Amino acid sequence: MAYGDRVLQQGLKGEDVVELQLRLAGYRGTLLDGDFGSGTELQVKSFQRDYMRLSAPSGVVDRATFLAIDELASRFPIDFAQLRCPCGVCSGFGQGRFKGRYMPGGEGQEKFHRYEYPGIHRLILWAARALFAYREDIRFSFSSGYRCAVENERKGRTTTNHHGKAVDIDTVLAPGMGKREDLERCNALRSLLVEKSNAQIGWLARNRKSLEPSDIAPTWVHYDVREYESKYLRDEFFCRDLAGLDRRLPITV
Ligand SMILES: [Zn+2]
Ligand SMILES: [Zn+2]
Repeated sequence: MAYGDRVLQQGLKGEDVVELQLRLAGYRGTLLDGDFGSGTELQVKSFQRDYMRLSAPSGVVDRATFLAIDELASRFPIDFAQLRCPCGVCSGFGQGRFKGRYMPGGEGQEKFHRYEYPGIHRLILWAARALFAYREDIRFSFSSGYRCAVENERKGRTTTNHHGKAVDIDTVLAPGMGKREDLERCNALRSLLVEKSNAQIGWLARNRKSLEPSDIAPTWVHYDVREYESKYLRDEFFCRDLAGLDRRLPITV
Protein backbone atom coordinates (compact mmCIF):
# COMPACT_ATOMS: atom_id res chain seq x y z
CA MET A 1 0.00 0.00 0.00
CA ALA A 2 1.15 3.55 -0.67
CA TYR A 3 1.84 5.68 2.38
CA GLY A 4 -1.30 7.59 3.32
CA ASP A 5 -3.72 5.16 1.69
CA ARG A 6 -4.71 3.20 4.80
CA VAL A 7 -4.90 3.72 8.53
CA LEU A 8 -1.81 2.21 10.17
CA GLN A 9 -1.84 0.36 13.45
CA GLN A 10 -0.20 -2.47 15.33
CA GLY A 11 -0.05 -5.75 13.41
CA LEU A 12 0.22 -4.25 9.91
CA LYS A 13 3.21 -4.69 7.63
CA GLY A 14 4.36 -3.02 4.45
CA GLU A 15 6.33 -0.33 2.68
CA ASP A 16 3.99 2.32 4.07
CA VAL A 17 5.02 1.19 7.58
CA VAL A 18 8.70 1.62 6.61
CA GLU A 19 7.91 5.16 5.52
CA LEU A 20 6.08 5.86 8.78
CA GLN A 21 8.96 4.47 10.88
CA LEU A 22 11.38 6.68 8.99
CA ARG A 23 9.32 9.88 9.32
CA LEU A 24 8.88 9.32 13.06
CA ALA A 25 12.57 8.46 13.60
CA GLY A 26 12.96 11.32 16.08
CA TYR A 27 10.08 10.11 18.25
CA ARG A 28 11.66 7.23 20.11
CA GLY A 29 12.70 5.53 16.87
CA THR A 30 12.85 1.95 15.84
CA LEU A 31 13.95 -0.11 12.86
CA LEU A 32 12.92 0.48 9.29
CA ASP A 33 11.60 -3.07 9.09
CA GLY A 34 8.05 -2.39 7.90
CA ASP A 35 6.57 -4.34 10.81
CA PHE A 36 4.21 -2.25 12.98
CA GLY A 37 4.93 -3.74 16.42
CA SER A 38 5.13 -2.29 19.91
CA GLY A 39 8.20 -0.18 19.04
CA THR A 40 6.38 1.53 16.20
CA GLU A 41 3.32 2.05 18.37
CA LEU A 42 5.54 3.77 20.92
CA GLN A 43 6.83 6.05 18.13
CA VAL A 44 3.30 6.99 17.12
CA LYS A 45 2.17 7.57 20.70
CA SER A 46 5.24 9.73 21.40
CA PHE A 47 4.51 11.82 18.32
CA GLN A 48 0.83 12.15 19.20
CA ARG A 49 1.64 13.16 22.78
CA ASP A 50 4.65 15.42 22.19
CA TYR A 51 3.96 16.98 18.79
CA MET A 52 0.16 16.79 18.43
CA ARG A 53 -0.26 17.35 22.17
CA LEU A 54 -2.97 14.73 22.53
CA SER A 55 -3.65 13.82 26.14
CA ALA A 56 -4.77 10.32 25.19
CA PRO A 57 -2.58 9.16 22.27
CA SER A 58 -4.11 6.20 20.42
CA GLY A 59 -1.04 4.79 18.68
CA VAL A 60 -3.17 4.53 15.55
CA VAL A 61 -2.10 6.55 12.50
CA ASP A 62 -5.37 8.11 11.38
CA ARG A 63 -5.89 11.00 8.96
CA ALA A 64 -5.15 13.64 11.61
CA THR A 65 -1.85 11.94 12.46
CA PHE A 66 -0.82 11.66 8.79
CA LEU A 67 -1.58 15.37 8.34
CA ALA A 68 0.39 16.26 11.47
CA ILE A 69 3.42 14.39 10.08
CA ASP A 70 3.09 16.41 6.85
CA GLU A 71 2.92 19.54 8.99
CA LEU A 72 6.13 18.59 10.79
CA ALA A 73 7.84 18.55 7.37
CA SER A 74 6.31 21.88 6.31
CA ARG A 75 7.23 23.64 9.53
CA PHE A 76 10.82 22.47 9.44
CA PRO A 77 12.07 22.47 5.84
CA ILE A 78 15.68 21.40 5.51
CA ASP A 79 18.12 23.70 3.71
CA PHE A 80 20.13 21.34 1.53
CA ALA A 81 22.60 24.11 0.67
CA GLN A 82 23.90 23.66 4.22
CA LEU A 83 24.34 19.91 3.67
CA ARG A 84 26.32 19.85 0.44
CA CYS A 85 29.92 18.67 0.37
CA PRO A 86 32.30 21.66 0.24
CA CYS A 87 35.02 19.95 -1.86
CA GLY A 88 34.14 21.62 -5.15
CA VAL A 89 34.89 18.39 -7.02
CA CYS A 90 31.81 16.22 -6.42
CA SER A 91 28.25 17.34 -7.15
CA GLY A 92 27.61 17.94 -3.43
CA PHE A 93 26.85 14.38 -2.39
CA GLY A 94 29.87 12.37 -3.48
CA GLN A 95 30.39 10.44 -6.68
CA GLY A 96 28.97 7.07 -5.65
CA ARG A 97 32.41 5.54 -5.44
CA PHE A 98 33.96 2.82 -3.21
CA LYS A 99 30.93 0.66 -2.42
CA GLY A 100 32.09 -2.34 -0.33
CA ARG A 101 35.57 -0.90 0.12
CA TYR A 102 37.02 -0.01 3.51
CA MET A 103 39.81 2.05 5.02
CA PRO A 104 42.93 -0.06 5.77
CA GLY A 105 42.36 -2.19 8.88
CA GLY A 106 38.63 -1.40 9.01
CA GLU A 107 37.23 -4.16 6.80
CA GLY A 108 33.54 -4.78 7.30
CA GLN A 109 33.03 -1.83 9.68
CA GLU A 110 30.59 0.82 8.58
CA LYS A 111 32.70 3.44 10.35
CA PHE A 112 35.40 2.80 7.76
CA HIS A 113 33.16 2.00 4.79
CA ARG A 114 34.34 4.29 2.01
CA TYR A 115 31.14 4.16 -0.01
CA GLU A 116 29.94 7.60 -1.00
CA TYR A 117 26.24 7.11 -0.30
CA PRO A 118 23.89 8.86 -2.75
CA GLY A 119 22.85 11.74 -0.47
CA ILE A 120 22.03 12.05 3.22
CA HIS A 121 20.04 9.34 5.02
CA ARG A 122 16.42 10.48 5.29
CA LEU A 123 16.09 8.99 8.78
CA ILE A 124 18.64 11.37 10.30
CA LEU A 125 17.04 14.44 8.70
CA TRP A 126 13.53 13.50 9.86
CA ALA A 127 15.03 12.87 13.30
CA ALA A 128 16.55 16.36 13.19
CA ARG A 129 13.07 17.76 12.53
CA ALA A 130 11.85 16.22 15.76
CA LEU A 131 14.70 17.93 17.62
CA PHE A 132 13.74 21.25 16.02
CA ALA A 133 10.12 20.71 17.11
CA TYR A 134 11.11 19.83 20.68
CA ARG A 135 13.26 22.96 20.97
CA GLU A 136 11.41 25.62 19.02
CA ASP A 137 13.06 28.24 21.23
CA ILE A 138 16.42 27.57 19.55
CA ARG A 139 17.52 28.53 16.03
CA PHE A 140 19.31 25.61 14.41
CA SER A 141 21.50 25.17 11.35
CA PHE A 142 23.68 22.42 9.90
CA SER A 143 27.40 23.17 10.18
CA SER A 144 28.33 20.03 8.28
CA GLY A 145 26.51 17.47 6.17
CA TYR A 146 28.08 15.55 3.32
CA ARG A 147 31.85 15.21 3.19
CA CYS A 148 32.99 12.99 0.33
CA ALA A 149 36.22 11.01 -0.04
CA VAL A 150 37.92 13.96 -1.76
CA GLU A 151 37.08 16.24 1.15
CA ASN A 152 38.11 13.64 3.75
CA GLU A 153 41.45 13.02 2.07
CA ARG A 154 42.12 16.74 1.93
CA LYS A 155 41.48 17.05 5.68
CA GLY A 156 43.19 13.76 6.63
CA ARG A 157 40.04 12.29 8.20
CA THR A 158 39.97 8.57 8.94
CA THR A 159 36.25 7.96 9.42
CA THR A 160 33.60 8.08 6.75
CA ASN A 161 30.57 8.99 8.88
CA HIS A 162 29.86 12.07 6.83
CA HIS A 163 29.57 10.09 3.58
CA GLY A 164 25.81 10.61 3.94
CA LYS A 165 25.36 8.94 7.33
CA ALA A 166 25.80 11.97 9.58
CA VAL A 167 24.97 15.62 10.11
CA ASP A 168 26.42 18.18 12.50
CA ILE A 169 23.76 20.39 14.03
CA ASP A 170 24.70 23.83 15.29
CA THR A 171 22.72 26.38 17.25
CA VAL A 172 22.67 30.13 16.89
CA LEU A 173 23.81 31.67 20.15
CA ALA A 174 21.64 34.33 21.72
CA PRO A 175 23.31 37.66 22.53
CA GLY A 176 25.53 37.32 25.59
CA MET A 177 25.91 33.55 25.30
CA GLY A 178 29.49 32.33 25.43
CA LYS A 179 31.28 29.06 24.85
CA ARG A 180 30.32 27.70 28.24
CA GLU A 181 26.60 28.19 27.57
CA ASP A 182 27.09 26.66 24.13
CA LEU A 183 28.67 23.55 25.71
CA GLU A 184 25.88 23.27 28.25
CA ARG A 185 23.22 23.67 25.60
CA CYS A 186 24.74 20.98 23.35
CA ASN A 187 24.89 18.62 26.32
CA ALA A 188 21.23 19.37 27.05
CA LEU A 189 20.32 18.65 23.42
CA ARG A 190 22.14 15.30 23.54
CA SER A 191 20.26 14.39 26.72
CA LEU A 192 16.99 15.30 25.06
CA LEU A 193 17.81 13.10 22.04
CA VAL A 194 18.64 10.18 24.33
CA GLU A 195 15.38 10.61 26.23
CA LYS A 196 12.95 11.47 23.43
CA SER A 197 14.55 9.90 20.37
CA ASN A 198 16.20 6.82 21.88
CA ALA A 199 19.59 7.93 20.56
CA GLN A 200 22.78 6.66 22.17
CA ILE A 201 25.91 8.60 23.06
CA GLY A 202 28.63 6.64 21.33
CA TRP A 203 28.21 3.61 19.07
CA LEU A 204 27.75 0.57 21.30
CA ALA A 205 24.36 -0.71 20.17
CA ARG A 206 23.42 -1.73 16.65
CA ASN A 207 20.52 -0.19 14.77
CA ARG A 208 20.33 2.89 16.93
CA LYS A 209 20.97 6.55 16.20
CA SER A 210 24.33 7.74 17.58
CA LEU A 211 25.65 10.98 19.02
CA GLU A 212 29.29 11.88 19.37
CA PRO A 213 30.17 12.44 23.04
CA SER A 214 30.90 15.96 24.21
CA ASP A 215 34.68 15.55 24.23
CA ILE A 216 34.55 15.03 20.44
CA ALA A 217 31.68 17.41 19.66
CA PRO A 218 31.66 20.08 22.39
CA THR A 219 29.75 22.91 20.70
CA TRP A 220 27.72 21.08 18.09
CA VAL A 221 25.60 17.93 17.93
CA HIS A 222 26.89 15.20 15.63
CA TYR A 223 24.04 12.78 14.82
CA ASP A 224 24.56 9.65 12.73
CA VAL A 225 23.21 6.29 11.53
CA ARG A 226 26.59 4.59 11.37
CA GLU A 227 25.56 1.64 13.55
CA TYR A 228 22.65 0.57 11.36
CA GLU A 229 22.91 -2.73 9.52
CA SER A 230 23.48 -2.47 5.80
CA LYS A 231 19.86 -3.40 5.00
CA TYR A 232 18.85 -0.11 6.64
CA LEU A 233 21.48 1.79 4.67
CA ARG A 234 20.15 0.95 1.22
CA ASP A 235 20.54 3.61 -1.48
CA GLU A 236 16.79 4.26 -1.52
CA PHE A 237 16.97 5.72 2.01
CA PHE A 238 19.25 8.57 0.92
CA CYS A 239 18.19 11.93 -0.51
CA ARG A 240 19.78 14.94 -2.15
CA ASP A 241 17.00 17.52 -1.98
CA LEU A 242 13.89 18.48 -0.06
CA ALA A 243 11.51 16.67 -2.43
CA GLY A 244 13.52 13.48 -1.97
CA LEU A 245 13.45 13.91 1.79
CA ASP A 246 9.75 14.70 2.08
CA ARG A 247 8.36 12.37 -0.62
CA ARG A 248 4.98 14.04 -0.30
CA LEU A 249 2.12 11.67 -1.05
CA PRO A 250 -1.60 12.35 -1.02
CA ILE A 251 -3.27 11.39 2.26
CA THR A 252 -6.43 9.59 1.22
CA VAL A 253 -7.53 7.96 4.47
ZN1 LIG B 1 32.82 16.31 -2.33
ZN1 LIG C 1 30.07 15.12 12.53
